[in-house]
Amino acid sequence: VTEKSVRQLLESKGCILEGHFVGTSGAHLGGYNNLDPLLPDVEAVSQLCFELARLFTKEAIQIVAVPATAGIPLSQWLAHHLGNLTNQPVQAVWADKSGGQLDFKRHGFGGALKNKRVLLADDMINRMFSVGKLGSAVSTAGGQIVAVASIAANSGVTAESLGYPKFETLCRIEYETFEPENCRLCQEEVPIVVDVGHGDKFQNTHPDFAGGFTKALSQK
Ligand SMILES: [Zn+2]
Repeated sequence: VTEKSVRQLLESKGCILEGHFVGTSGAHLGGYNNLDPLLPDVEAVSQLCFELARLFTKEAIQIVAVPATAGIPLSQWLAHHLGNLTNQPVQAVWADKSGGQLDFKRHGFGGALKNKRVLLADDMINRMFSVGKLGSAVSTAGGQIVAVASIAANSGVTAESLGYPKFETLCRIEYETFEPENCRLCQEEVPIVVDVGHGDKFQNTHPDFAGGFTKALSQK
């Protein structure tokens, strides 16, 4: 599989959006990738996770950890294919959102991570915000993070910037990111998308935003 074919797949499913978005961290974004429209296509999810799993067969990974909720199917398929490729059992857990943090609060999940070699994974890594929280939760549970994987990532994301030994992604997608107080799109009064990402929170705190608000998914 090539980066181009992955990009074409994501584009054909409507996973790659352009506009004025707000990320999990509160940063403003000139584009947004949302793998939700891909997830009903189980074979496509399996195929992408197989391709991603092939890049991590040397790390002796024992468990895959993801953030809820879009990461959950990825964790299952990544662990399934990684287990088959390495002939070792690989488990999967997800962290739930909990008061602005991520937490392995489901019964058995924290214990499953203890003293294990962990692959962190997410559908899309924009600014490392969610991955940072996920990494903290894994470390708190006693897991050893050996690598990070994502289906797609913004161009600035590297192993070095993440602070982990290895990072691989199937597709690079570039768009601008801004601090909210210094956003070119806000200055140009581009409407903020409220039905994808966290624009709805921005709308609650900035109801009088001069650019107004819009929806990205209404026609789809
Ligand atoms: Zn903005």
